[in-house]
Amino acid sequence: MTDSRIPADLPDHIQHYIDGAFVDSIDGDTFDVFDPVTNQTYTTASAGKKADIELAVAAAKRAFDEGPWPRMLPRERSRVLHRIADIVESRDARLAELESYDSGLPITQALGQARRAAENFRFFADLIVAQADDAFKVPGKQMNYVNRKPIGVAGLITPWNTPFMLESWKLGPALATGNTVVLKPAEFTPLSASLWAGIFEEAGLPKGVFNLVNGLGEDAGDALVKHPDVPLISFTGESRTGQIIFGNAAPFLKGLSMELGGKSPAVVFADADLEAAVDATIFGVFSLNGERCTAGSRILVERSIYEEFVERYAAQAERVKVGYPHDPETEVGALVHPEHYDKVMSYVEIGKTEGRLVAGGGRPEGFEEGNFVAPTVFADVSPDARIFQEEIFGPVVAITPFDSDDEALALANNTKYGLAAYIWTNDLKRAHNFAQSVEAGMVWLNSNNVRDLRTPFGGVKASGLGHEGGYRSIDFYTDQQSVHITLASTPHNPTFGKA
Ligand code: NAD
Repeated sequence: MTDSRIPADLPDHIQHYIDGAFVDSIDGDTFDVFDPVTNQTYTTASAGKKADIELAVAAAKRAFDEGPWPRMLPRERSRVLHRIADIVESRDARLAELESYDSGLPITQALGQARRAAENFRFFADLIVAQADDAFKVPGKQMNYVNRKPIGVAGLITPWNTPFMLESWKLGPALATGNTVVLKPAEFTPLSASLWAGIFEEAGLPKGVFNLVNGLGEDAGDALVKHPDVPLISFTGESRTGQIIFGNAAPFLKGLSMELGGKSPAVVFADADLEAAVDATIFGVFSLNGERCTAGSRILVERSIYEEFVERYAAQAERVKVGYPHDPETEVGALVHPEHYDKVMSYVEIGKTEGRLVAGGGRPEGFEEGNFVAPTVFADVSPDARIFQEEIFGPVVAITPFDSDDEALALANNTKYGLAAYIWTNDLKRAHNFAQSVEAGMVWLNSNNVRDLRTPFGGVKASGLGHEGGYRSIDFYTDQQSVHITLASTPHNPTFGKA
């Protein structure tokens, strides 16, 4: 009997894609890919090493030095990018099905992420055509203009949470601006990444512009970062990995963009719309299985509403529907892999010694195998607790009371991270003052993770380096060369050296 949970036509093996062809690793090595519901191997993927990265970089460099892509008009590249968006949109259901199966994300949320991937391509397709080049003129005297040039081979290294969407976030602007790329996706979720090759071929992306090497971070990722012909690395992943990459890229003075971990505060003041705040903070930490970099995983609540908030929050957390990823009713699916499950569960146990458990606290009933964790809520968590300070990256949240605006701000900033902050209050001045002072790259006021694609995305402190999104991505993936011309008829420095 077929299992309706398992998508039809899963590949027997996932290969690299180099210079327009699917290939195995040179040494033939592979790694296993798991189904997070059973933790059984369902396929294998080629395990790339330095030699595979060298082939991929050489192909990307050839396509950059000799191929048409960097030389095409923006509107010609834009057409290809729009075709890519069309194809992704037309296959959103299949992409979501595969992504959900491979990563354990609930299917409805995986569908939203597939659509967002299409939007990312469309956005950059439009942006490169609309972008006006900078030019500065003083008639009769001088003129300056800025040449934006693609840089070369961009190395893109991505994590396993919402993998397809996060890959689109880097691929869209890197390709729109005329670079060629080598993508090294996360080893835990190689399935959706392997679909890009077919989509790009169909959309007419020239051979060698997109290259994909699967493999472990310390092999394939490391070789990409250390390759001298890769001037740019865009990385999303853990802060610790970011530090290693920063060090390895330093001797080459590479361009780096780093989107790293988070432990973001959601601050709820007594004057907030309580129902909206509960709904949003539940969604903010439990959607995407809690495997969300911007998760509001520390909720700070003003003392006068604290007990009521905790009670409502715990009751609602208990009602969040844990289920199989393919089920459209599911709100929290399976965590991506067993080691991550063990890590999250170890924090659940630590939390039991650090806070008051008010919801969840282990494996949900009826799920004897697989990486399922019940939405878990700890109240009365002190700021020196590990579950307050460390990124858990699962469906686990810490709630802490505060008595004043100053204390709320001090608690919000009491972390090495600085990715996002959420503020719930109906006092406009308080909201904006808090936003000015909170150490976070992105602030949501009475709002939850909506973002205009033109705005920058990124963190401060241990959460990142630089910003991507909108015009910042165009800046990151281009060199901005200033050209200066003198129009005046009088020569420069007419007396210098003539004395
Ligand atoms: P990770 O750092 O373990 O791995 C990310 C990628 O880096 C993978 O492809 C991995 O193979 C590769 N890698 C690992 N070691 C490497 C090395 N030495 N050299 C080069 N590449 C290497 O992260 P993860 O567990 O896959 O992802 C979860 C993390 O990502 C969380 O911390 C989360 O907050 C963060 N994240 C941040 C953002 C953001 O925008 N700030 C978005 C999504 C996820």
